Amino acid sequence: MHSLWLEQNDLPTFPPLQETISADVAVIGGGIAGILCAWRLRELGLDCVLLESGRICRGATGHTTAKLTVQHGLVYQRLAKQFGLEKARQYLAANLAALDQFKSLCAHIDCNFQEQDSFVYSRQGLSSLEAEQKILTALNCPATLEKHLPLPFSAAGALRLPRQAQFDPLAFLSALLPGLRIFERSPVRALKGAQVITKEGAVHARQVIVATHFPFLDRHGLYFMKLYQSRSYVLALENAPLIDGMFIDETPGGLSFRTAGPYQLLGGGGGRTGKENEAWAHLESFARRHWPQAKVKYRWAAQDCMSLDGAPYIGPYSPNTPNVYVATGFNKWGMTSAMAAALILGDLLTGRENPWAEVFSPQRTMLRPQLAVNAAASAAGLLNFRTPRCPHMGCGLKWNDPEHTWDCPCHGSRFSEAGERLDGPANGDLPNA
Ligand SMILES: Cc1cc2nc3c(=O)[nH]c(=O)nc-3n(C[C@H](O)[C@H](O)[C@H](O)COP(=O)(O)OP(=O)(O)OC[C@H]3O[C@@H](n4cnc5c(N)ncnc54)[C@H](O)[C@@H]3O)c2cc1C
Repeated sequence: MHSLWLEQNDLPTFPPLQETISADVAVIGGGIAGILCAWRLRELGLDCVLLESGRICRGATGHTTAKLTVQHGLVYQRLAKQFGLEKARQYLAANLAALDQFKSLCAHIDCNFQEQDSFVYSRQGLSSLEAEQKILTALNCPATLEKHLPLPFSAAGALRLPRQAQFDPLAFLSALLPGLRIFERSPVRALKGAQVITKEGAVHARQVIVATHFPFLDRHGLYFMKLYQSRSYVLALENAPLIDGMFIDETPGGLSFRTAGPYQLLGGGGGRTGKENEAWAHLESFARRHWPQAKVKYRWAAQDCMSLDGAPYIGPYSPNTPNVYVATGFNKWGMTSAMAAALILGDLLTGRENPWAEVFSPQRTMLRPQLAVNAAASAAGLLNFRTPRCPHMGCGLKWNDPEHTWDCPCHGSRFSEAGERLDGPANGDLPNA
């Protein structure tokens, strides 16, 4: 179940940390968020160490679909409604700056970077697309409504944003690695202030960035209440017609399309980790029905952290943890969001103001309907006494038959059939694994 990106890229390996060292900044987590933060801080002249519990880029980043776009579903109407137009503007500006940064870096990196238009389509009607278009126009980001789409089914229309992009994320990140101080197989067990304790060593840092996907420090910041994880599934099809453009359904869990060289990527399905789903079967039957000549070349699945309100958490980890910062909750849009995090945290860690930081503040209100959904899922998980229990907070695990894993419906930790930890926030295997 390897992704196309992991098959196509031979990433370098790095030694584990086995001593105590010093650095200006310790970045924890070797996915796109951690690597971009380390790269940015190095550009700003800081001495930075990156610690990864396993191998870099094997988490969500190695299993993404890697569309580089500021069009994150229909996020702008949601942000404008919840936070007002000014903060929706901050979100857009941060992501536009991120996209520009990718474009200028990719001009010198061989990573199959390709400009593409991005589309959010609707099968129901045009009203939600028109509402998004209105907000984008108010934000000075013109998007057009298109009615004739190259999709293999009928849709009411799509909102098109020109000159977005797609790339091979691991080829891109590989090019940023030379010069970074990276330690793999170095899981961080604890923080004491800005001292980072790993399995076999420690980093005495002045500042720390937690970029572990789901933040692992539970005593601060309430991330176990603020986040849940949602899985998505992807097929890379050969011999399928290549659809021009990057498409995503306005409905969460709907289908997503982009090309990658000779392959048509088809994504979708899924939902909250720990809930039963038939995503693989659904995607395969879609492919068989519409493109009977197509063959599945690669298939993969992964999950992303979903925030309470549609905006990531980027900034100080909590009011009680000075010098510790976080980047998480990318809501399945972690490519430009991770670059936005690198730009914002680059400013904050060097004592500069950042004009977009407010909308991403991890200290913003938690009073959103999703908080009640997360609390209800946790209560149900804790009251499920029949199955193995998650070592993170004790929720009953659910068996995921298509993937043969034990999944936590509360916070999204996952374990192999034998009990080996696959995804956090749990930081260890199941007992007796
Ligand atoms: C199927 C799918 C498709 C997607 N498609 C898109 C898309 O088209 N465009 C887009 O913008 N976004 C997309 N996303 C979202 C995007 O891929 C993610 O938001 C992003 O990759 C998250 O990166 P990350 O660095 O936060 O996490 P990760 O890549 O998971 O990296 C976190 C790292 O931290 C390490 N770690 C964890 N705990 C510790 C510890 N205690 N000590 C040390 N290291 C630790 C982990 O081992 C891991 O390597 C998609 C997501 C999925 C699941």
